[in-house]
Amino acid sequence: VDQKSVWIGTNWKMNKGPAEAIAAARAFSNFHLPEGVRCFLAPPATSLRDVCSVLQDTPMMVGAQNMFWEDSGAWTGEISAPMVAECGASTVLLGHSERRQHFGETDWTVNRKVHAALRHGLRPLICIGDTADEFEFGVSQETLARQTKIALHGVSQEDLGRVVVIYEPVWAIGSAGRPAEAPFVSEIHTKLRGVVQGIVGRNSSVRIPLLYGGSVSQANICDYVALPDVDGVLVGRAGWDPADFIKLVSRVG
Ligand code: PEP
Repeated sequence: VDQKSVWIGTNWKMNKGPAEAIAAARAFSNFHLPEGVRCFLAPPATSLRDVCSVLQDTPMMVGAQNMFWEDSGAWTGEISAPMVAECGASTVLLGHSERRQHFGETDWTVNRKVHAALRHGLRPLICIGDTADEFEFGVSQETLARQTKIALHGVSQEDLGRVVVIYEPVWAIGSAGRPAEAPFVSEIHTKLRGVVQGIVGRNSSVRIPLLYGGSVSQANICDYVALPDVDGVLVGRAGWDPADFIKLVSRVG
């Protein structure tokens, strides 16, 4: 991974069916990515293939918001890594806090999914985050270290080079959330870098990008991206409108 890259992505969540998603994707079809910026979109599964088709010759990466770890079989309602890859996607969000909160995702399931993604050539974008309670009790670091260690358990040195970790405090996400203060994010990311380095070991060529997410906006994006151990951001609401997302990209590029 290029040390100077800044990552910026947006998670559309359960918004934009095919028609709306195609229209939004078209807004990026002539999009010029500033040097050193890496961008991704995560549309809902039913819009994935269309968005990938619209953006196939552009530098915009497209990813799923979730997937299952088995390749096929009797798993009603699930989609697999090969299906995501066949749609043309190159990445997948895993372990988003909304999956952990509402759909029973655990550190163990995230680990299985990370391995499945890597096996099928997808880049896993692994979301970790402390809850409001964990934050209040001062155990955020412990939670994040545990989530990261379990998510990356058994991943080869070579594959670690394709992984991205995203710190998203649960208390900072969504309209009920409040953005984490930049000095707090800085402290968390520096400690997280230590945890990741412990996992990556002596292979100094592997530098896993660490992104921040949670109520990122036009007003605060630069505060996060300026932090030494923050390699980019994941944006929800503030990036759903393509014009807004393009403006966010131009702020960091
Ligand atoms: C998210 O859910 O990944 C997210 C970052 O949401 P928001 O920016 O809307 O808080």
